[in-house]
Amino acid sequence: MCGIVGYTGQCDAVETLLNGLKRLEYRGYDSAGIAVTNEQSGLQMLKTAGTVDTLEEKIQREWPTSPDQRFTSGIGHTRWATHGAPSDINAHPHLDGSGHIAVVHNGIIENHKDIHSHLEELGHTFSSETDTEVLAHLIQECYEGELLQAVCAALQKVEGAYGIAVLTDYEPEKLIVARHGSPIVLGVNDNAAMVASDAPALVTFTRRVIYLQDNDVAVVQPNDITIRNVNNVPVRREISHLDWDVTAAQKGGYEHFMLKEIYEQPESLQNTVGGRLDWDLGTAVLAGLNVTPRDIADIQRVILLACGTSLHAGLVGSFYLQDIADIPAQAEQAGEFRYRNPIITTDDLVVAVSQSGETADTLAAVREAKHKGALVSGICNVVGSSIARETERGVYLHAGPEIGVASTKAFTSQVAVMLMLALKMGRCRRLSRRHGDALCRAISTIPEAIQAVVEKDREIAEVAQKFKDLRSCFYIGRGYAYPVALEGALKLKEISYLHAEGYHAAELKHGPIALLQEDVPVVAIMTDMPGKEKTVSNVRECQARYSPVLGVRTEGDEDTADIADYEISLPDVSHYISPITTTVALQLFAYHVARLRGCDIDKPRNLAKSVTVE
Ligand code: GLU
Repeated sequence: MCGIVGYTGQCDAVETLLNGLKRLEYRGYDSAGIAVTNEQSGLQMLKTAGTVDTLEEKIQREWPTSPDQRFTSGIGHTRWATHGAPSDINAHPHLDGSGHIAVVHNGIIENHKDIHSHLEELGHTFSSETDTEVLAHLIQECYEGELLQAVCAALQKVEGAYGIAVLTDYEPEKLIVARHGSPIVLGVNDNAAMVASDAPALVTFTRRVIYLQDNDVAVVQPNDITIRNVNNVPVRREISHLDWDVTAAQKGGYEHFMLKEIYEQPESLQNTVGGRLDWDLGTAVLAGLNVTPRDIADIQRVILLACGTSLHAGLVGSFYLQDIADIPAQAEQAGEFRYRNPIITTDDLVVAVSQSGETADTLAAVREAKHKGALVSGICNVVGSSIARETERGVYLHAGPEIGVASTKAFTSQVAVMLMLALKMGRCRRLSRRHGDALCRAISTIPEAIQAVVEKDREIAEVAQKFKDLRSCFYIGRGYAYPVALEGALKLKEISYLHAEGYHAAELKHGPIALLQEDVPVVAIMTDMPGKEKTVSNVRECQARYSPVLGVRTEGDEDTADIADYEISLPDVSHYISPITTTVALQLFAYHVARLRGCDIDKPRNLAKSVTVE
């Protein structure tokens, strides 16, 4: 999720790694570290919570430079915490028990708990709270004199997503890197090689790069790179030429961070749901939630507190909880809730939803709910954030850092977490095993469904062309499409500065219909889910007022064919998944309208990424 660099050659590895890490800083991170070695000295490691500058200062303080002690191989990391708060100890690299093997890792080792217990039985002791440290110890356990063989053997036991770089002073000129779901790029140069999680770290080193594919493991030496798969069978990968400048490279070649993050959603959602489905019991495993089946049975109501985009995710969540878990649930604007002297009882579960975990109103509402004795939990993206700390129980999104101010991947991960929360609570109550199984299957298809939506990007861009000159518009939907309408309109407002209102389709007639005319379009969400037929009737009403209608519908659905004036057709998915697929399409629509209008998409005027004032 965050940054990896590695170097082996003749130059100063410390300087090369620090430069590489600095070029990955744009991704957002909470701690940094490096491990280096050479033919003479053992493995040396320094790491710290904070910035790469803090790391550099620590290196200057603790590693006095000496001309005869230059390190020529090393690995470095900027961490964006998923397991364990940002701290010096949790920062990467992580060492094995002997201190001879260092690992940096992006992603999540989903079966880290099982591996941890197994290794503990074998006598290993751990110093951090991360999932990554188990990998270093596992490699040590598998080491029989050759690092490549040990890494391959360890990876065969690992489930989850990873990009890794491994260094040992037993074989000091060698780096082993591997990928499964988290990118690794190799930079090829004369007499030196560099590796990174993202191309920006490499652009000043070389333009010749090799992108690893999933399950590839590479042995990287100054004059030789060989690539195999985890079963040790050699594979061939082409050299590509990087022709980006550094700024474009930071955005992975995308024009804006927002677009990059929209495209990242198959991966971010995989990280959100990965390892959290229990196929044996047809339920979800949300360990951090820390509630027993008994607690769940006692909960009489769920209150979801949030602001902005997170509030829309909360609204979807409240529908899931009612439909799936059979439990009264309501989403509340946190700023309103905290001042209203709300009725909260000890039978309430309060769930605070915030990407940053720092939203001032949501944090204050959490304090109010705690004070009144409710069970309070959080759904946050940033590990160790204020809401995560103060609620002491909750679910992390694992969506990776979100840089674009207008939230995209955090929203879809929030919705996926809500669905898993409803599944878990439902299975402790009245939801049958059969329904639980069906939901597990539906949840596991999310990444693939989102991939199919982002592949419609060009089609959506063409539709956006028709709407770029609008001044004002409405988004309508019912049921699960209602929060999606709110979120779609908010996205357009935030980045294109156009006036857009999300309304329940039934509410349109109670006022806003007075504004409809030929230059006020309506975006109608009529994907195949309950309420769709009624939305179709509302579309007719809009068209009777000459409003052009953009229909977002399900491919092949005859009920919605040839109704709207323009359309975006999306893959047929369970109606529980539909809020995610539909929102991604509307994110792309908003993005293209804003781009065509020449707006500053990544830094929309007047907006802040984390709203820490009320
Ligand atoms: N899961 C790892 C951790 O929390 C890696 C995080 C990252 O990708 O930066 O340490």
